Amino acid sequence: MEIKKKDIRALTKEQLRNFFVEQGDKAFRGNQVYEWLWQKSAHDFDAMTNISKETRKMLEDNFVINHIRVDQMQRSSDGTIKNAVRLHDGLIVESVLIPTETRTTACVSSQVGCSLDCRFCATARLKRMRNLNPDEIYDQVVAIDNESRLYFDRPLSNIVFMGMGEPLMNYNNVLRAIDKITSPEGLGMSPKRIVVSTSGVPKMIRKMADEEVKFGLAVSLHSAIDEVRTSIMPFNSTFPLKDLREALEYWYSKTKNRITYEYVVWKGINDTQEAVDALVKFCKFAPSKVNIIEYNPIDDGEFQQASNKAVEMYKNTLERNGITVTVRRSRGKDIDAACGQLANKS
Ligand code: SF4
Repeated sequence: MEIKKKDIRALTKEQLRNFFVEQGDKAFRGNQVYEWLWQKSAHDFDAMTNISKETRKMLEDNFVINHIRVDQMQRSSDGTIKNAVRLHDGLIVESVLIPTETRTTACVSSQVGCSLDCRFCATARLKRMRNLNPDEIYDQVVAIDNESRLYFDRPLSNIVFMGMGEPLMNYNNVLRAIDKITSPEGLGMSPKRIVVSTSGVPKMIRKMADEEVKFGLAVSLHSAIDEVRTSIMPFNSTFPLKDLREALEYWYSKTKNRITYEYVVWKGINDTQEAVDALVKFCKFAPSKVNIIEYNPIDDGEFQQASNKAVEMYKNTLERNGITVTVRRSRGKDIDAACGQLANKS
């Protein structure tokens, strides 16, 4: 009977060191292999050139390296790159590289499909198959960093967890991946350059605050009126705005970090003065920034981008009330890589 080999990257550095000691080797060998696995992102044991052939064979006999593979890469006319990423079990997720003049941002996935059901989102139509492992999240970042160096001559500068899935529903693995991304033994990126974007899971926001995480938080809000928000994000009936706001107040009291809200203005849904007034009221308790994002229709046309006039109304009202606001044009629309469009169509 064939024995299923363990993914070596599921081991901590300490476990790897202990493994080598148990094999009669030096613990230091574990450090060397760990460096190959994470800092150098080795795809196979043969690449580990400072490890003896016998040891590499022994590793091969005991473990696998479940690396992701970029199956397909699409480039948009605006420079945005979308990767279709194949996981070791054949499932596919997508991640996106978004270049601007000053930064290169990776938008990464945290789940295959999504457990939530936002009605405007293409990913919601794929049922949640499973959570991504820390190494699968880390590998997406490495792949995009490599592409950034290759096509834009500079390393990746920022990461947003805004791809497929709700990151706070895969909390432990997302945090483990961020640990690796920020560790000098991984990519050594500053946590200040990472933003976890959630649709708003109050319990997990409180947990993050208690753990004093150093990365930023963004909330996909889209409406500050319960009735409206529940109609477009049905899970809002389980986590209503009052609970979300209390969790965010707690987050701010602990971290003193400004909160970013992601917000799309849709025609006939939230393009009213009443909606923007509710938003102002909702975010006044802490320094806030509202990113108004252009909407990308996902085929049936039920949701449509609101008029420029409505977006202007939002911008002016928010600014008048001292709330920072940016209006972001969407990127990568021609390759379905824009916000809410990731749905494994390629
Ligand atoms: S918007 Fe985010 S949380 Fe909502 S269904 Fe899409 S991927 Fe899931």
